[in-house]
Parts: sequence; C-alpha cells; structure tokens
Amino acid sequence: MQGELLELKDIRRSYGEGPSSVEVLHGISLTIKRGEMVAIIGPSGSGKSTLMNIIGCLDRPTSGSYEVSGRDTSRMEADELASLRRDFFGFIFQRYLLLSNLNASENVQVPSIYSGYNKSKRAVRADMLLERLGLGERKGYSPSQLSGGQQQRVSIARALMNGGQIILADEPTGALDTKSGSEVMKILTELNAEGHTVILVTHDPRIAAHARRVITIRDGNVVSDELKDKAPEAEKGNSVIKDAGADAIPDIRLKAAWSTSARAYLDRFEEAGAMALRSMISNRMRTLLTMLGIIIGIMAVVMVVALARGASDNIISNISSMGTNTISVMPGERMGDVRSGKVRSLKISDMNALKGQPFVDSVSPVVQSSVLFRRNNIENTGTVYGVSSDYFRVYGMELARGRLFNENEASGDMQVCVIDAKTASSMFPGIDPLGQRIIVKTTPMVVIGVLTDKDIMFRPRDALYVYAPYSTVMHKLSNQDYLSTLIVRIASGFSTPVAEASLTSLLKSRHGRKDFFIQSSDTIMKTISQTTSTFTLLISAIAVISLLVGGIGVMNIMLVSVTERTREIGIRMAVGARQSDIMTQFLIEAVTVCITGGLAGVLLSLIAGKIVTLFFPSVPLSFSALSIIVAVLTSSVIGMVFGFMPARNAARLDPIEALARE
Ligand code: ADP
Ligand code: MG
Repeated sequence: MQGELLELKDIRRSYGEGPSSVEVLHGISLTIKRGEMVAIIGPSGSGKSTLMNIIGCLDRPTSGSYEVSGRDTSRMEADELASLRRDFFGFIFQRYLLLSNLNASENVQVPSIYSGYNKSKRAVRADMLLERLGLGERKGYSPSQLSGGQQQRVSIARALMNGGQIILADEPTGALDTKSGSEVMKILTELNAEGHTVILVTHDPRIAAHARRVITIRDGNVVSDELKDKAPEAEKGNSVIKDAGADAIPDIRLKAAWSTSARAYLDRFEEAGAMALRSMISNRMRTLLTMLGIIIGIMAVVMVVALARGASDNIISNISSMGTNTISVMPGERMGDVRSGKVRSLKISDMNALKGQPFVDSVSPVVQSSVLFRRNNIENTGTVYGVSSDYFRVYGMELARGRLFNENEASGDMQVCVIDAKTASSMFPGIDPLGQRIIVKTTPMVVIGVLTDKDIMFRPRDALYVYAPYSTVMHKLSNQDYLSTLIVRIASGFSTPVAEASLTSLLKSRHGRKDFFIQSSDTIMKTISQTTSTFTLLISAIAVISLLVGGIGVMNIMLVSVTERTREIGIRMAVGARQSDIMTQFLIEAVTVCITGGLAGVLLSLIAGKIVTLFFPSVPLSFSALSIIVAVLTSSVIGMVFGFMPARNAARLDPIEALARE
C-alpha cells in the first residue's frame, strides 16, 4: 500500500448559499501517512472542526478533492461514506457523545452493530476494550454514572470497536480536568505507538506537543506544517492502556463476511427492535397515549365484527333449522304491500295445482286470524293458523304429546287442533289438554296434540298459537275462500332458483298476472347476510376513521421523537449507521407502537366480550380469527404508513447538523 493514507487537495468549504455564503476553509492541501500522529492546532473559529469533519467523511467539501487510501470520496454515496466512518475511522468528540440510554458496553458496541458483527463476539470485544482502558468494573454503567474522563475513555473504546485504523479526536481533552486530560492523551499516544493513525484537533499547544507533526491553521488556511525530528518523549510512568491481553482481544474485523449474511441483517433488525422497545419504555406515558388511538380503533373493529357476526350467525342458524328448501307464496306485489289484504286470488285450487308439480315435495296453505280462545272462564287472545299436516314438517315443529292432524282432517272441516306449549299452560293450567275442548272464536275444537316449547322465527315468544285444519278455519272461522300464504317444500333434487321460476310461471298463468310474491328462506338468508355485511361495513368505516386518527397521532409523536433525538441520530451516523439503519430504527419503533396497541386492542376486546357475555348472555358475540388477524395487520400497516415520513426525515438528516443540535 502507498504511504499516503489521506490526501486533501485544495479543500474549500463554504457555509450558506449565494451572496451570504461564507468560505471557512480556503483551499487546504494536506497528506497524512499511515501511522502518523498529527495535531491540528489553531485558534477557536479557525476551521479546525470543519476540516476534521471533512477528513472523517461526516461532511463534504464544497470543492477540492479528498482521497482515502486512493479512493476519491467526492464520488461516494452516503452509504459508502457511512461505511468508511464505520470501519475505517474512529471518532472521539470533545463532548464524548455517548448514547444516554445505553450502558458503557452497549455504547462501545454501537459501531459493530451497523457492521453486522456477531453479537456474542461483539460483547466480548467491547468488554475487553473497556477493560484495557481501565473501565472493566464500569461496563454496565450508564454515561450519567460516569465521570467525564471515564466517558471519554468509553468513547475511545467505541472508536476502537471496529478497528479504528484512523482515530479522529476533536478537542478530546477540552471538557476534561488536567489529570483526565493527560490520561486521554497518554492513551492516544499509546494507540499511535500500536499502529493507529491519530489525528488530533486542539487549540492548546501543550496538547499539540504530544504529536510529532503539528499543523497550524488560521482563518481557514494552513500556516505551518512542522515535523519534529523525533517523537516527543513519552511521559514517564506506567502506561494507561493495560497491556496484558492486548493480543487476546478478538479482532472482529476478520469476520467481515458477517456484514452481508442474512443473519447479520436479522441481527441489525433485532437490534433496531430492541432500541425501539427501550425508547418506548423510557417514554411510557407518551407511548401509552399514542397507542390509545390504535387501541380504541382496533377494539371498535373487533367488537363490531364480533357483534355483527354473532347476530347473523344467530339468524342464519334459526333459518337453517327451519329448512332451506321452502318457498312462501304471498298475495301482493312485495313484502309490506298495503293492498295485499285485498288480493284474494290465492286459492285452494292453486295448492292442488302445485301438488302435482315435480319440484314440489309438499304444500301447506296458511290462513291466519287473530281470535279469542275460551275454555270455561279462561279467555286469551291468540292466533289461529289454518294449515295442512305438512305445515309442521316445513317449520320443523315437534310434538310433545298426542298427534298431528292428518290430510283428511285438514281438508274435511274437522274440529280438531294442535296447540303450542304456551297455550297449553295458559288455557289448561294443571290439566292434561289432550282430548279437552277449546273454543276458538266460536268454534269448539278438540285438542289432539301439544307442541314442544320452541321459538319459531319471526313469531313473538309470549303469544298463544293454535293450529287447526285449514278447511275448518276458512269455512267456520273466517268465512274466506282465499289463502294468506302458501308454503311449498321443494322436492329434493331441485334448486331453489329453478323451483322459484317454475312456481312463478305456473301461478302467473293461472292468475293471468303476477299478483303474488315469493320469498324463499334462501332469499331471506341472503338479505340478512347482505344487511349485516352492509352494517359491518358502515361501522368498520367509522372504525377505520378512528384508526386513521390514531395513525396520525403516531406520526405526530414520531416526528416529535425524531426532533428530540436528532443528536442520537447524529451520533449513530457518526459511528457509521447507514440511512437505512436509521430509517429501520424509527419505522420499527412506529410499527412496534402500533402492533402493541393492536394486540392490546384485541386483548381488551376479548376481555370486554367475556364481560358482556357474563352479564348479558343473550348478546350474540362471535369473534373471528380473521378479523383479529386483519386488525393486527392493519395496525402494523398504520405503523408503516404513518411512521414512514418521520423515519425518512430522520434518515435524511445531515450528520453534522444533527450532531450540532443540542
Ligand atoms: P474551530 O473548530 O476551529 O473552532 P469551526 O470549524 O467549528 O472552528 O468553525 C469555523 C468557522 O465556520 C467559524 O467561524 C464558524 O462560525 C463557521 N461555521 C461552522 N459551522 C458552521 C455552520 N454550520 N454554518 C455556518 N457557519 C459555520
Ligand atoms: Mg471546533
């Protein structure tokens, strides 16, 4: 390799744009060789830090060329510069710039995380470096528990973590007392003796005296560049760096293959996740408030879906128990037609015509009427249904005792009836109703059967029902020759739509026009599921809006967090974080907040569901795994979408500006 490690040619740096632009460095040319110890000295404001930042690839010159090991840096992408900062340079700042929420050992490891080095080796190396610098006992301490000198030693260990071929120290002793300062200088001298190239910036000639080469700059120009004949006398006394075991420190740089392996990416990801958790925990209240929007939104979605599903499950199971292969034919044009009471075209002859059709399994007419039931001195209003014997099968009604009437009784004006359990208990308290008489309006009927107590769809639970032969009801009770409804059970092998079509055309030709409408349990079911899904959609839209509001909350907080942590971002960039590393860290943070909020929302919904079923068992709730998965996915998508802008803002920060901010 050639002698020139760093080569600066006519480097200029201006701040500001246009006429107000001020040039701070006026064409600096320098070469620095491998293994040198160089001090750059000059009064405050002369441009030392500006120069140092350019040398360290934290900043770019406005013009001029800068080559590192023969590679021109002006053509490098941001990530390539980050890789130089990470693996080539080691920075030491006047204000140490440690991350306050990491302990000493973790701080030292930061550069190697971004290089993708093995986790356990990383920890061993960091601890050994700290030990060498006399901080073996304090590796678990956080920066606030360390003195300035100790913090600076942690930052030296961090600079050495990835090798630190070139150590850049900008006023490393500026904030330290004399003793700590001279200790730090001794460490730097010893590191130079071990082969590290050291570039040191200071305004203090006594500090500069530690270096063999001293470059003086004034007002952005190099005014002298002196090389002493021999290295300055090393101070007497024991060396500060503990020599023992220096060779034993694992050189993780040899394992560079790590940095591109899938595991290394996973590791960086995991690291970003750990950072996110740490920052969430250290800002507990803020995190909780941020999550609240997500929690409420997710709860709303999950609960509403559960309620809608529960309700429609309930209805659908009711309908299917009645059998899905029935069609009701009713007079009028549609459900709720006000004139349907006046349409009297549905006749017994229609029923007989249908009976002969191949798609019909069985037919029952329905004639219903609200009447007074009497027995001795007991009177109750109820509904009498004039039906045929097939009716009970169509509705899946079961007998508790006695028998049903047969076809002959149904069509032969027989005065018999089947009563439901409610009628049995109200009209025959304490008596066996079988064989007893009940007066329906004016017609006495003999009870031949009692039905089991079972809810029938769309019928009020407390009302009384008596089922009598349709002929009896038509002729003796309501004096009508038309039917209120015809219920058709479709023969097996025929689909509902086919049966509906044939039935419609048959009745239309018989009546000469369509003065009836049909309703199959199929269509009812469809309508119900349509209604519930519309309802679910509507409420979900509201839930989505609340999720949106939650997401905006997350974005807000993340933006604040980026601003608050600008310095942290600057430090991470200075030690070699790529833009993508910063982006990942903030995105993961946003996503973690949202997923945690989502999971909390799901959990709370399940708990709320348990409580509701405990106190209101009749409220139907059916949680679907799908809605829960969708809820959690939604919340992570919200995290991604709303975390993106703040994360991008963080990643695009200029390292120098980020570091300058307090
Ligand atoms: P030193 O480190 O030698 O004290 P600096 O390199 O920090 O000096 O600054 C050199 C000059 O550049 C100073 O006059 C300072 O005001 C100016 N300067 C430094 N950074 C900026 C900046 N970001 N914007 C504008 N001027 C700057
Ligand atoms: Mg400075």
